[in-house]
Amino acid sequence: MTDHPLHTDWDFSNTAARRDQYYAASLTRFTPFREPIVFKKGQGQYLWDTEGRKYTDLLGMNVCISVGHSHPRVVAAATAQAQELTHCTTMFYHPTPAHLAEELAATMPKGHDWVVHLTNSGSEAVDLAMTMARTYTGNLDLLALRTAYHGPTAAAQSITGISDWRHPGMPGNVAFVPEPNQYRGIFGPGTQPYLDEIDRTIATATSGKVAGIFVESVQGYGGIIEMPPGYMSGAAERVRAAGGLYIADEVQSGFGRTGENFWGFEAYGVVPDIVVMAKGLGNGFPIGAVVAKKHIAEPMAERFMFHTYGANPTSAAAARAVLAVMRDEGLQENARVVGAALLERLHGLKDKYQVIGDVRGKGLMLALEFVKDRDSKTPDKDVTTEVFEACRAQGIILSKSGPFQQCLRMVPPLCLSLDDVDQVANSLDQALETAVNDAKA
Ligand code: PMP
Repeated sequence: MTDHPLHTDWDFSNTAARRDQYYAASLTRFTPFREPIVFKKGQGQYLWDTEGRKYTDLLGMNVCISVGHSHPRVVAAATAQAQELTHCTTMFYHPTPAHLAEELAATMPKGHDWVVHLTNSGSEAVDLAMTMARTYTGNLDLLALRTAYHGPTAAAQSITGISDWRHPGMPGNVAFVPEPNQYRGIFGPGTQPYLDEIDRTIATATSGKVAGIFVESVQGYGGIIEMPPGYMSGAAERVRAAGGLYIADEVQSGFGRTGENFWGFEAYGVVPDIVVMAKGLGNGFPIGAVVAKKHIAEPMAERFMFHTYGANPTSAAAARAVLAVMRDEGLQENARVVGAALLERLHGLKDKYQVIGDVRGKGLMLALEFVKDRDSKTPDKDVTTEVFEACRAQGIILSKSGPFQQCLRMVPPLCLSLDDVDQVANSLDQALETAVNDAKA
């Protein structure tokens, strides 16, 4: 043992001294906020810090909180399971993860046999899907989109298009295609040029045989980028013609978040070969999953699919309760209605403030994009930061995103209410006024 000092006097106050104390003990330093926030309590769509200040959580604690912070049914289900048997590794069998697997398979498109493998996180699910696609097809090359984010593990980083999140030394055999961003994509609005580019990329940057393409049904960290009509089915067709699979990353866009469907891909007439999910599945309990067509998963089922905590019954019990609460509380429908109201208010702000270049998204997966001027569309990271901080001062937690950190993303718990919409829109209005006036001064 070293004589490393132990701090037994933590009072968790929101001070820079406390933050430094934490940093002395921890390597985890990523925070977008200028000043630290230490949260103590969460309920529904709200959070309270250690000084009793209340916040509306439009970040959904990083899109993980689907049915509301500390939802009593989710907490009760996990507690009961943990008290009976906290963990049961996947070399044995336990009914709770088995039931969850059945329930997840039942959410997939009909007419296919689906199998489920549970993981601890989204990036593990992505890694597994990569291995599965390579094993089934016998091909190595993968395609991914340029402003994609697929996770921090080495394999998931290798298909993450946003370069800030990808170490240059990550494993290869990945070619990136341009994201079909309808606001600032390199080919402008439309679908066809982006599909043509997939063909060109397969022909010029791969061996000609591909294992698959990963597509977030709505890009999250990329700044809430929806795929235009025809893109997913067109991409699937092209990749399948080259021997590969279509893999939907639903880590952010799944579980009713887009309001109109349970899974993001359902709006676009594509049936993926593999679907990866996490975040909202556990409402804060760590769990992810790969759901694959059975014949695709089969070749690797006995070789590579083992995660020590993968079928953890406590997380699985939480996830089963999440699915039940979503259904019983009509949260997908709530996301559709409340999301539409928030989107309308965001459009109102765009009419008022020139710094807002674009407003987009659906359900409770929305974003504002900030620009220096609307003609050049030059991303404005500074205004984004000012609005972000001003909102925080008013008790609204948002998320900066986009490859230039020029977007504010809104991905709250799906129980956000119409009253919250009013409060959030008014706070954003004030924050924008402050930010714009400060910029002029
Ligand atoms: N895919 C997407 C679309 C994500 O947004 C994330 C995480 N933000 C991941 C994968 C990785 O998930 P995790 O952080 O749970 O490993």
